[in-house]
Amino acid sequence: ALLVLAAVYIAAALAGQVLGVAATDAGEWVGWTATNAMRADLAEHCLDLDMAFHQEHTPGEMIERIDGDIDTLSNFFSQFVILVLGSGLYLVGVLVLLWLEDWRIGVSIAAFTVVSVVVVTRLQNVSVPYVTRERQASAELYGFLEERLAGLADLRSNGASSYVMHRFHHFMRNLFRAGRRSGMMEGVMWSATTGLFVVGLALALVLGLVLYRQGAITLGGAYLIWSYTSELRWPIQQLAQQLQDLQRATASIRRVQQLYSERGRIEDGPGAGVEPGPLSVEFRGVSFSYHEGEQVLRDVSFRLEPGEVLGLLGRTGSGKSTIARLLLRLYDATDGQVLVGGEDVRRFRLDELHARVGMVTQQVQVLQGTVRDNLTMFDTSKSDGRVIEVLRDVGLSSWLRSLPDGLDTELSAGGLGLSAGEEQLLAFARVFLRDPGVVVLDEASSRLDPATELRLEHAVDELLEGRTAIIIAHRLDTVRRADRILLLEDGRVVEHGRRQDLESDPDSRFRALLRTGEEVLA
Ligand code: ATP
Ligand code: MG
Repeated sequence: ALLVLAAVYIAAALAGQVLGVAATDAGEWVGWTATNAMRADLAEHCLDLDMAFHQEHTPGEMIERIDGDIDTLSNFFSQFVILVLGSGLYLVGVLVLLWLEDWRIGVSIAAFTVVSVVVVTRLQNVSVPYVTRERQASAELYGFLEERLAGLADLRSNGASSYVMHRFHHFMRNLFRAGRRSGMMEGVMWSATTGLFVVGLALALVLGLVLYRQGAITLGGAYLIWSYTSELRWPIQQLAQQLQDLQRATASIRRVQQLYSERGRIEDGPGAGVEPGPLSVEFRGVSFSYHEGEQVLRDVSFRLEPGEVLGLLGRTGSGKSTIARLLLRLYDATDGQVLVGGEDVRRFRLDELHARVGMVTQQVQVLQGTVRDNLTMFDTSKSDGRVIEVLRDVGLSSWLRSLPDGLDTELSAGGLGLSAGEEQLLAFARVFLRDPGVVVLDEASSRLDPATELRLEHAVDELLEGRTAIIIAHRLDTVRRADRILLLEDGRVVEHGRRQDLESDPDSRFRALLRTGEEVLA
């Protein structure tokens, strides 16, 4: 009988292992599939939210929401059901067995179990704030590092390294303190739980002894009682742990839901269906403010016929880039209407609008990826031939030849390894490739040396050919190819007209500017 029992025991143990592996595997699969889908949904949702939203939320915060919160859910998805079911069944099985052995034992140990579940749950709640504080300290440290590493060049050149190290030590010290406290707390919890179960075991031993003396159970029965009581610790701790996880998961789900319910102020229109080719651009009494009460644009109106080029001039902060942002619908006008091709920009689907209006800005974002990806923006329908042609047009042929792997050369994020001028030319090439009907060049040539700028002149001429364009510039010679000139001051149009008319008008500000030869307006 013993041999048979041994065989059954071994078989059960093996089956348990196999089942355990299968359950973990299935659980992980469910957890990762579910959380990855949520991560993707959430990331896509955040990409759709407008610029105003992203200005209010730091990258660190977004990462914490998209990855941190979802990560908390992954344990919930993968382990919760298995562990709660598993430890619940285990607990019930142990109690039933004890009950079958002797009802008095059953009653005492069941009472002990209820008390321990309550106590262990309480104890775990005590440690929660310490763990939260540790996570907070760690998030602060990494947030600090991320920001400082991003500004490395400026920090170094301004000699702020020792200040950074000082702050770094401060955050490290905080993390150390919080970590030590939460570690100590964990130790205390462990001791307390162990103490609790020692009491339980003592109870089982005493009960076993008394019942054995009375002859109610055998010696084997007494051993069984002791052994099963010592088995109770695992399921009780698991249940308490899972209950706590459930709380955390609920909090995470609530935060995720809140992010989901954020609606961008900018929403897709029904689609405008404007014809291909150059498009007209019109601002009708447009006013705009980034924040309540701070008017950046006041009643701006102008119209560009298809193919016309507007030179937009004004001092720093006068609102030139803001006009470009409204045209691309990165923000919506507070008052008035912005029209492209005779249609309100709010009627366009956003991808449709961005396919028809291209912009080159002062800040070029080079993305982690190959040169090809950086130009096509990961659109695989663009042929290599076209990409090479465009690079030649903007004067980057020799640069391309100097790259070790040609179009397949990897560029690193942030454009390390590219000169500012090369970045600018890349941005030009991007717009060229998309072939939009309207282009906005925002100070696009301000970072180029005279030789490079000369190279670009030809490219700009070609880019403007057959397109409507707005050229934003500080320097007067940049707007010599403009058909119209618009002078902006403090968000107001102070002068607007055909360039030739303004040039020949003795009273015009533009002519005054030209006459004084003031190179830079700012
Ligand atoms: P520059 O010649 O220096 O590029 P600009 O004419 O392009 O200047 P804008 O960038 O349009 O000026 O800014 C106009 C005003 O709006 C400025 O006073 C600026 O401080 C403010 N502003 C610009 N962007 C924001 C923003 N995202 N949030 C709040 N205010 C902003
Ligand atoms: Mg600007």
